[in-house]
Amino acid sequence: MQKGRVPGFKRERIELEPCSICAGKAVVKGLFYELVCTGCNGSGWVVWGSKLVLSSDELVTQLSFKLQHAQRQIAALKGLPLMSEPQSQYERSNRLGAGGTNYTGD
Ligand SMILES: [Zn+2]
Repeated sequence: MQKGRVPGFKRERIELEPCSICAGKAVVKGLFYELVCTGCNGSGWVVWGSKLVLSSDELVTQLSFKLQHAQRQIAALKGLPLMSEPQSQYERSNRLGAGGTNYTGD
């Protein structure tokens, strides 16, 4: 399975920190309802150190990296097989419950 990654042309991983305006919640409390935080483009995250706001395009990619990282940590904590390493821990997949997805069986 090729991932289509071009050598030497990796996307930059930008370090993020929680937005100080909305405390990383992506929304701020308005008078009657929640408003999208303008300090972080509604993401809850800003560039680490500089506190710059990423554009929507860049934000999607960087949040994806962050989510993938978090999912790997969650999987590791749960002892689940890692999606990014299909060759590892394959035998343990029979522990998947009824709600498991992408279970290929054998
Ligand atoms: Zn914010």
